[in-house]
Amino acid sequence: MNRNGEPSFRDSVDLMFNRAVRLMDLSPGLEQKIRVCNSTYTVRFGVRLRGKIETFTGYRSVHSEHMEPVKGGIRYALSVNQDEVEALAALMTYKCALVETPFGGSKGGLCIDPRAWDEHELEQITRRFAYELIKRDLIHPAQNVPAPDMGTGEREMAWIADQYMRMNTTDINGRACVTGKPPHAGGIQGRVEATGRGVQYALQEFFRHPEDMAKAGLTGGLEGKRVIVQGLGNVGYHAAKFLSEEDGCKITAIIERDGGLQSDTGLDVEDVRQWMMKQGTIKGYPSAAFTENGAPLLEGECDILIPAAMEGVIHQGNAANIKAPLIIEAANGPITFGADEILREKGVVIIPDMYANAGGVTVSYFEWVKNLSHIRFGRMQRRAEEARSRLLVEELERLSADQHLGWTLSPDFKEKFLTGSDELALVRSGLDDTMRTAYQAMREIWHGRGDVDDLRTAAYIVSIGRVAQSYRSKGL
Ligand code: NAD
Repeated sequence: MNRNGEPSFRDSVDLMFNRAVRLMDLSPGLEQKIRVCNSTYTVRFGVRLRGKIETFTGYRSVHSEHMEPVKGGIRYALSVNQDEVEALAALMTYKCALVETPFGGSKGGLCIDPRAWDEHELEQITRRFAYELIKRDLIHPAQNVPAPDMGTGEREMAWIADQYMRMNTTDINGRACVTGKPPHAGGIQGRVEATGRGVQYALQEFFRHPEDMAKAGLTGGLEGKRVIVQGLGNVGYHAAKFLSEEDGCKITAIIERDGGLQSDTGLDVEDVRQWMMKQGTIKGYPSAAFTENGAPLLEGECDILIPAAMEGVIHQGNAANIKAPLIIEAANGPITFGADEILREKGVVIIPDMYANAGGVTVSYFEWVKNLSHIRFGRMQRRAEEARSRLLVEELERLSADQHLGWTLSPDFKEKFLTGSDELALVRSGLDDTMRTAYQAMREIWHGRGDVDDLRTAAYIVSIGRVAQSYRSKGL
């Protein structure tokens, strides 16, 4: 139980799991095997900082090793604890199965306020934490591959990769020990934006199905839809930016840790983000109304609500007041089990976390494959693709001239058609395909059987089914 009398994050995940397995035909033994977290390693280590030794506590949980390596981000936050890390590791298992990335589930966390330390200090702390995990194979290209999460990003991943390679100088696949690295250090184009981009692709896919939109009482396309976003970090910023700049959504409120901004005509996401990066707060942003207490804005009138900050923000205390007919869980676990029941009762459609934010692990998978193959995506094909397109364009132009047909290809079409796919285009294409395919799998269960009336249960059924199949084929 947490302090509001609701189940803890891990219990919440387990309750959602139980709700789904009740509709499946699994033996109790296998069900239990899939549910439990295999192991959690806790480490306490000291780092000499500012003239004294500071002790930090970190965790790495492995939820399921039905496939290896196991995969999952490393979070830096003061609130990190074993329960949270285990809940997040379980979600990673189900997420990887749902989007068919060949990994088991894991997660890591360090109890730290990253804003309290400068860059050099954070590097020392990160290298030391990484050292502790690497020496136990809890960071390893074939066994356990972390990625960024709340409070960490490309910079920390580059330090971790470098630390691994210093300790394993002859491992030719060393760079694959962690994903989310900057492109110059073995990363892949499109990883930073990937989770937010995946949220956009998930919504685009949802809006391709009028039947699904009708369940949320929505019509039309994404254009003009009013969106409220909580958390303008990596995930929330990219999701809000792409939805407003590319799909015509109106971001009517942004909720951050220190307050909220509101504008009925829509916020300029890039402008707000620039302000926040410079000032360290959204307070004082000149082009919108500011309110000190941001959380009640979650209850505002809108078409789509995107919690993209942290877990447990929609709970039994505020769920009944939520007005959004559609919620997409960009964060992990933003809706507690109790709130989920209230929202389902109200007919709110929830696109669940294990699907909605799977863009990150999907592109991490591409990065891992790139590291193992030691070649950038598109390097072999791009110019060949362009040469073929050019042949076709030249032939069309020749035909038009010879036959006096008067055809002219627009310069815009020609430029697009003659440009071969670079790594970013391939990554986005692979991500879009993944998000569409996974949605179809959930949708089949959601509409295909009479006893499943929400996407979350459908997602669990797909994932658990796949993990069960994997265990069965191992003879378990
Ligand atoms: P981040 O640290 O980049 O951003 C989090 C943002 O939320 C920050 O701007 C922070 O100020 C804000 N925030 C914190 N507490 C808040 C509060 N109480 N109210 C409003 N805003 C608050 O983290 P992120 O990587 O964007 O992760 C956000 C969520 O998405 C987490 O649940 C994480 O597990 C999940 N997620 C992240 C990734 C990824 O690739 N980064 C992938 C999958 C899931």
